[in-house]
Amino acid sequence: MNLQNHLIARIQAGGPIPVSDYMAECLLHPQLGYYTTRDPLGAKGDFITAPEISQMFGELLGLSLAQTWLDQGSPAPFTLAELGPGRGSLMADLLRATRGVPGLHAAMQLHLIEASPTLRAVQNKTLEAYAPEWLDSVDALPDQPLFLVANEFFDALPIRQFIRTGNGWSEKQVGLKDGALTFGLGPAAPQPALQHRLVDTQEGDLVEHCEAAVPVTQAVATRIAAHGGAALIIDYGDWRALGDTLQALRAHEPADPLQAPGEADLTAHVDFEALALTAKTAGCAHTRLTPQGVFLERLGITDRARALAAPLAGEGLETLIAAHRRLTHPDEMGNLFKVLGLYSSQATPPPGLNP
Ligand code: SAH
Repeated sequence: MNLQNHLIARIQAGGPIPVSDYMAECLLHPQLGYYTTRDPLGAKGDFITAPEISQMFGELLGLSLAQTWLDQGSPAPFTLAELGPGRGSLMADLLRATRGVPGLHAAMQLHLIEASPTLRAVQNKTLEAYAPEWLDSVDALPDQPLFLVANEFFDALPIRQFIRTGNGWSEKQVGLKDGALTFGLGPAAPQPALQHRLVDTQEGDLVEHCEAAVPVTQAVATRIAAHGGAALIIDYGDWRALGDTLQALRAHEPADPLQAPGEADLTAHVDFEALALTAKTAGCAHTRLTPQGVFLERLGITDRARALAAPLAGEGLETLIAAHRRLTHPDEMGNLFKVLGLYSSQATPPPGLNP
């Protein structure tokens, strides 16, 4: 059985499926899903992420979180958690950079929320020394102060897509035409979750809604509001999304999202406004959105790059300069990627962010 045949059989039996179901099957089908079956990161994989570009990324996130932990009176014990840790590189860099913070490592309990058994095995190799515990869901996080990072996690959560039709919405679906997967539209209906989008959209506009992000953000924000802590959420996207952002990447090249399901990475831009509103409703304060480049510059990435550059020459030096540029420059990841901070309303926001 391949995933394409499985999806065709499912649609033949039950009718067209929402884009969110399609995305969920492609990414996390227990036997055939994209993340379930492989490590997709790096030069030989399909895409590359900030922590795989340079150690500086995880180091600076670590310093921001560690300073926030100190500012909140060094609570102990506390949870250090990551959503979708990939290869574990970000967490390894974060932990190495915070080794010297008195009491931090002794007080932390490391929890990794990861759906893919393949990537759990990779993370185990990278992070074994820190005795991490893996969780299937954020709901299983302990009730105690929570310091959390999530890089390129929310963009992998399934989205639904709706097209404005009068004062209602027609949902984009994946169905069949001549036996092949194709996009179609469901009947127009009201969508309570999109009520606020009737104001800024017109007939025919497409908006996306990530239902799966709501319970995740709620669980994180509830713990931070009740016990203290902070979350740094980094992803590509903006305060409010408009238009079709579903994207497939295969071997670092854009692909057709319906071609070769389960063989390409599927992502969508993150609607940070939706995350911030959910967090606020759960009693948690949030920062304004900060471009990744600005955030990293404020935390001292250029000084860090200079220090790392000192012993380097030739290719090593070129690679470091390119990595600094890639992470921070507005034409590269600097503007497209944004950082949202969640923190307890009694505390000061994490360093690097716009309060
Ligand atoms: N944060 C890493 C990896 C990003 S790729 C980095 O920056 O390099 C997305 C990660 O989220 C992968 O580890 C993937 O397996 C995981 N993931 C995707 N959907 C998930 C879900 N619903 N629950 C838990 N983990 C998920």
